[in-house]
Amino acid sequence: MKFYSTRDRERRNAFSLKDAAFMGLAPDGGLFIPERIPQADMARVEAEAAKSYADMAIYLAGLFFGDDIPADKLDAMIRKAYDFDCPLAEVGPGLRTLELFHGPTFAFKDFGARFMGGMLGLLNGSSEELVVLTATSGDTGGAVASGFYNVPGVSVVVLYPEGKISDLQESQMTTLHGNIRPVRVAGDFDDCQALVKAVFADSEFRSKVRVTSANSINILRWIPQSFYYFYAWCQWKKATGNDRPVIVVPSGNYGNITAGMLASFMGMPVGGFICGSNANDVVPEFLKSGKYVPRDSVRTIANAMDVGAPSNFERMMYLYGEDYGRLTSVLSGFSCTDEEIKAGIRDLYEKYGYVSDPHSAVGYNAIKATGAEGFWLSTAHHSKFREVISDALGREFPVPEGLKVAMSKEKIFTPMAVSLQDLEAFVKKVYERS
Ligand SMILES: *Cc1c(COP(=O)(O)O)cnc(C)c1O
Repeated sequence: MKFYSTRDRERRNAFSLKDAAFMGLAPDGGLFIPERIPQADMARVEAEAAKSYADMAIYLAGLFFGDDIPADKLDAMIRKAYDFDCPLAEVGPGLRTLELFHGPTFAFKDFGARFMGGMLGLLNGSSEELVVLTATSGDTGGAVASGFYNVPGVSVVVLYPEGKISDLQESQMTTLHGNIRPVRVAGDFDDCQALVKAVFADSEFRSKVRVTSANSINILRWIPQSFYYFYAWCQWKKATGNDRPVIVVPSGNYGNITAGMLASFMGMPVGGFICGSNANDVVPEFLKSGKYVPRDSVRTIANAMDVGAPSNFERMMYLYGEDYGRLTSVLSGFSCTDEEIKAGIRDLYEKYGYVSDPHSAVGYNAIKATGAEGFWLSTAHHSKFREVISDALGREFPVPEGLKVAMSKEKIFTPMAVSLQDLEAFVKKVYERS
């Protein structure tokens, strides 16, 4: 399979899987898309999903990567990556949510990060060393650290802002050790991101040290996120007899929902998509007015969705041929305030005894407000947002064992000033020693 940039209309520059994966973003600033969207045989999908999530993912991944990766290697990688559950849970009568938080870091980013970690290991081979360099404002760092842990030939340098992430998030990055090298930066997230960008822009440095990013726009994180939509679809059909669910996706950078759209282009029937946003409602506004006006983000209690200029918007428009009418025939928008998110959390708890994290509660609110026949995606476990939950519900809930384990281990990290020189010296040292 070859890949092209969303901005390369004439398809002049084809990229191999390896090049697209290692570059992340296309050289012209566009996002990579596959040369063609393979069609899935839905009967086969159902048969594989009945065996396990991994079996279904092996079939679907083969459609994209079968020419590039030997089947036995892809098979083994996926079985290792996807050893956790992905249930369409019935929260109340006729009320269903796809729980994507049963992976090691308790958020849906595990699905993309674990796949990418395994694939980079396969694409890189063991002959050459590689440093994955990334900045995080919270959840991504933990998912990438876990997903790339112990991948042969790969070291991970993850930058995070001192005092700006939760204790739990810091633990998830700093307690793995081994090939995961966290750097605590005396600055904010923008400083971290600027440092990473500066390293990638330094071609002289990059000629000496092999570095790549694990950005969420990477095809190796994006494509595998389409797989759980198929898994949900099978469970939905079995439970309801209906095969065209409306799917609600709590959205920030719009990678998740765009992966759902990819699934529909692969042949999975849907009744439509609803993007759920917090006060950062740039896309719902666009769907209403036809005008796309990115802006600075505002802070909300669903902070993983605090994005004012979603990086996957371009990919979404590409999929629908830049056609506003075509897009709006499939996608509608929904947004809510912090107060409404808290009300949703309370509603779910009081009516059904179900504890929801704030991001997922946006999805519930959308289903409730629209009466859509379908389900919402639950993107994180509520224990990752304990302050919000105790504020909304006035009580605390037990933390799952898997989260407690990380919090009890020793944190090891490298403190650093906002200094490109220091960071490059550190990355070089990691590269040479790895
Ligand atoms: C990243 C994240 C989102 C947003 O997903 P996008 O793919 O960026 O739209 C929503 N909820 C949680 C918990 C997240 O970590």
